[in-house]
Amino acid sequence: MIDLKSLIRNIPDFPKEGIGFKDITTLLKNGPAFQIAVNALCKPYRNQKVDVVVGIESRGFIFGGAMAVELAAGFVPVRKPGKLPAATLREEYKLEYGTDAVEIHRDAIQKGMKVLLTDDLLATGGTAAATIRLIKKLEGEVIGVAFLIELSFLKGREKIPDVPIHTLIDFAQE
Ligand code: AMP
Repeated sequence: MIDLKSLIRNIPDFPKEGIGFKDITTLLKNGPAFQIAVNALCKPYRNQKVDVVVGIESRGFIFGGAMAVELAAGFVPVRKPGKLPAATLREEYKLEYGTDAVEIHRDAIQKGMKVLLTDDLLATGGTAAATIRLIKKLEGEVIGVAFLIELSFLKGREKIPDVPIHTLIDFAQE
């Protein structure tokens, strides 16, 4: 059995001092590991109805696209401001300094659709929480959130209280 955690490369002080960046490219380039990760991320949802998988730019696209095919669901991108071409909704969220925002196409999700959200990594939870607000504004039902990696010492789960969270790899300390 492949140890997925051992395939994550830690890059100290990237993109700025004090951040331990979790580089997933070392896992992605390993075919069997990538397949195991996608299968394991999909596991809780195989017997549930999933209309669309929402992936967050940019590494959420890699897993979200693969999971959508695996679950025979559609794929919806959530992007940084100004990237999506048609009419969008925007949600802002707080960073340590300042704010950031995510956008979704207004017609990406219809009322009552079952939505699975995915991203590569759960840190403070701000990005996922803002994305959940976008999905709820469009009246989609978030059935779960799946992350390859969780930095549990940052307590991001506390920002996502109402949705079941599925993660494969945990880093309990920096
Ligand atoms: P957050 O909103 O704090 O949960 O941050 C999650 C987003 O930022 C995800 O899209 C991650 O790809 C990225 N991210 C945050 N911290 C890290 C980290 N230490 N290593 C790699 N990506 C990170």
